[in-house]
Amino acid sequence: MNLLVTGAAGFIGSRYVRTLLAPDAPDAPRITVLDSLTYAGTLDALPLGHPRLDFVHGDIRDTALVDKLMAGTDQVVHFAAESHVDRSIGAAADFVLTNVVGTQTLLDAALRHGADTFVHVSTDEVYGSLESGSATEEYPLRPSSPYAASKASADLLALSYHRTHGLDVRVTRCSNNYGPYQFPEKLVPLFVTHLLDGRKVPLYGDGRNVRDWLHVDDHCHGVDLVRTRGRAGQVYNIGGGTELTNRELTGLLLDACGAGRDRIEYVADRKGHDLRYSVDWSKARDELGYRPGRDFTAGLAGTVAWYRANRAWWEPLKQRTGSAP
Ligand code: NAD
Repeated sequence: MNLLVTGAAGFIGSRYVRTLLAPDAPDAPRITVLDSLTYAGTLDALPLGHPRLDFVHGDIRDTALVDKLMAGTDQVVHFAAESHVDRSIGAAADFVLTNVVGTQTLLDAALRHGADTFVHVSTDEVYGSLESGSATEEYPLRPSSPYAASKASADLLALSYHRTHGLDVRVTRCSNNYGPYQFPEKLVPLFVTHLLDGRKVPLYGDGRNVRDWLHVDDHCHGVDLVRTRGRAGQVYNIGGGTELTNRELTGLLLDACGAGRDRIEYVADRKGHDLRYSVDWSKARDELGYRPGRDFTAGLAGTVAWYRANRAWWEPLKQRTGSAP
């Protein structure tokens, strides 16, 4: 079985590929990774040289390349995206081009070559801010940021290829991930690496925004359940991590790094900042047997320990993106 995984030089995709290439993985697909290595992609997290892995450096918008790769592909798992909300507020064009046009390029090729299954990795941010309760898969899409709007567009486009063309498309909408190899511009690795460098951490607004934090291993497990057990044309929420305000999470990170509350620097709120995300993941639980397995306290401690031990990975990335001191 040949699997095409896009964006697997990034945080979640690389973890997903490592999971499938583990010696004890249940089915053993051949994996082709397609990634254009944007600022967010690094090859360090991929087991290059593994006999079941091919890496192709290229863009998901390259129709000829995607066509060639899709010819031998049975299943697609599509992670590639511009993924940082703050960058989408500064400049949205790349988000539309990669997240929307890139997804359409892949869907067209999957259709032309009769791919068996196309798993589109979407996000809980497509639902927008919730005052209370949790969004089921039927909840209306009300994305707030250009990032979330581009993901909602791609998500609906993917579903349209099922309704219109009968392509076996499955969509996952997951909550915030944390874990090793996350690019150090996202909240958890940004704060941890700043703290390890003795710096202050920039907390948006009053820090009351609520996010549901899920370990990347649980997300990867959920995506693979959707790939292997999900149904065509269905959306599956993947959540069930730990809901925390950004202020609570910051407190835990300060404690884990042995830093005091004086290291918080309150900064002007993000434009259009969603107050709260929360997904109802009972459909994935009841249909697929999905259940998050990672204890949050242990997962966060492991993540902090990983950043402490892997300065050689993140320090050059922070220097490259100008977020080093
Ligand atoms: P990431 O930014 O770490 O990685 C994205 C990868 O995509 C990078 O390797 C990058 O080089 C690649 N890429 C970008 N544009 C490309 C293009 N045009 N062609 C080929 N490759 C390209 O992102 P991530 O955090 O690993 O997120 C992966 C997916 O999961 C995204 O679709 C994101 O929307 C979704 N998601 C992320 C989270 C989260 O908390 N990080 C939560 C829910 C859903």
